Amino acid sequence: MQDVVDELRAYVTWVRESGLQNLSSPSQPRLDDQNENENENKNENLNPTVKLPTLESVRADLGDCTRCKLHKGRHNIVFGVGNPRARLMFVGEGPGEDEDLQGFPFVGKAGQLLTKMIEAMGLKRDDVYIANTVKCRPPNNRNPEPDELESCEPFLKGQLAAVRPEVIVTLGKFAAQSLLRDATPITRLRGQWRQYQGIPVMPTFHPAYLLRSPGEKGKVWEDLKQVMKKLGLKG
Ligand code: SF4
Repeated sequence: MQDVVDELRAYVTWVRESGLQNLSSPSQPRLDDQNENENENKNENLNPTVKLPTLESVRADLGDCTRCKLHKGRHNIVFGVGNPRARLMFVGEGPGEDEDLQGFPFVGKAGQLLTKMIEAMGLKRDDVYIANTVKCRPPNNRNPEPDELESCEPFLKGQLAAVRPEVIVTLGKFAAQSLLRDATPITRLRGQWRQYQGIPVMPTFHPAYLLRSPGEKGKVWEDLKQVMKKLGLKG
């Protein structure tokens, strides 16, 4: 238990140092009081001195963000969606056109494939939490640049600290490389368990890549089967 408390404290310290200000005193009304009360109770059971961020406090800190140049072309900040107490969290790269217009992650064709992957695991989209490494759409769907990833990273870390999933699945190169601080190509990272702040991480391919290379779907399913086994899911 002490290990867990130490990890949570390290999380909070890291996120605070990264510029989030309101982790212990959310400045916005909460969207889901019941879930948040349950979260707070869970936190208090761990250690009354450790106050973790909530998704609402992280979103409030993000505000109408202009921390990097991606804000210039966005229609909506795509923060994240799903169960605030999810056992499984998916982390993608960044919003595409559909996501930018709707304000939700993974709602385009790649998102529909992700939904199928989640359902094949025996889950619903509402059971998991889904977020991206950058919250604003890169122009013309270009890759996020290092300064953009760095500017947005505290908010992903805040989301991870708030949800505290049992397993993280990273989708594609950028999510894996930025979360794991590892420049190994995704072709070698995928399928191998890694750790982020004590949480098991399974890197796999991005659904958008699978749309271009459907022959790789079998590899992703193998990765997801490892996740199911870790979570005790039968599919
Ligand atoms: S990508 Fe992230 S850091 Fe950059 S403007 Fe959007 S929310 Fe802010």
